[in-house]
Amino acid sequence: MATHGEQLYEGKAKILYATEDPNLVIQYFKDDATAFNAQKRGTIMDKGACNNKMSSHLFQLLEASGVPTHFVKQLSDREMLVKKLQIVPLEVTIRNITAGGMAKLLGIEEGIVLARPVFEWHYKSDALGDPLINDDHILALNLATSDELETIRQLSHRVNDMLSAYFAKRGIDLVDFKLEFGRHDGQILLGDEISPDTCRFWEQGTRRKLDKDRFRRDLGDVEAAYQEMLRRVLE
Ligand code: ADP
Ligand code: UDP
Repeated sequence: MATHGEQLYEGKAKILYATEDPNLVIQYFKDDATAFNAQKRGTIMDKGACNNKMSSHLFQLLEASGVPTHFVKQLSDREMLVKKLQIVPLEVTIRNITAGGMAKLLGIEEGIVLARPVFEWHYKSDALGDPLINDDHILALNLATSDELETIRQLSHRVNDMLSAYFAKRGIDLVDFKLEFGRHDGQILLGDEISPDTCRFWEQGTRRKLDKDRFRRDLGDVEAAYQEMLRRVLE
C-alpha cells in the first residue's frame, strides 16, 4: 500500500506526492478553483473528492475500452494512485459544440453543434495562457514525436467517442474537454483528470451548465452542479 512521500509539485487543483515506488505517484485533489489563467481564484466545497471519484470511475471505464491511462487505484476520498508520467507539454482539446475559447477565437456564438469534432493542440504554458499550436510547431520544437502525436490523436478521439456516448445516456452533452498525456515505460498514457474542471457538460434539452463555467461566469449553484455530475456519472 502506497504511503505519502515528499511533495513533488503543487499545482492549481492538485498536489503530487512521491511514494516508495519511483514508478508511482499520488494525485491529491484540492477544492481550490482557478479560472482565466489563475486571475480568478476560489474554492468549490468538496470539489476535490468529487473530481477524484469521477476521474477514477472514468479512467477505469476508458481502460476497459482500450485507452491506456495512468490510473492505478483510488486510495481515499481525495487521493488517487497513478503511474508516474513524464508529461508531454501539450493540452489536447476536443470540441463537439462551440463554447469558450473556440467561440472567442473565431467570433462565433456558443452552442453550435459542430459537423465533426474539432481537435486542438495547446502548448502547456501558464505564462503564455496555453496558446493554440499546430503539429509543425510541436515537431519543429521537439515537444513530441510524430508517432506520439498520432497515438495521442487516436486515443483522444476514442475518449471523445466513448465519453460522448456515456454522457449522452445520462442526459448530458459533452461539449468539449481537455486531456493530458505522458510517457511511462516507453508508452503513451492518458494522465491528469477528467472532471467538471476539465470538461464542459450541458444538460440535454435545457443546456443547463453543469461544469466549471458556473464558477468562471458566477452562475451560482457551483457545488450542486459538481455533485449532480458525479451522481449522473455513477448511476
Ligand atoms: P496545474 O499544473 O495546471 O496547476 P494541477 O493542479 O491539476 O494543474 O496539477 C497536476 C499536475 O500534475 C499537472 O501539471 C499535470 O500535468 C501533472 N500530472 C498529471 N498526471 C500526472 C502523472 N501521472 N505523473 C506526473 N505528473 C502528472
Ligand atoms: N480546459 C482545461 N484547462 C485549461 C483550459 C481548458 O481543462 O487550462 C478545458 C475547459 O474546461 C473546456 C475545454 O478545456 O472544457 C476547452 O476550453 P477552452 O479552450 O474553451 O478554454 P476556456 O474557455 O476554458 O478558456
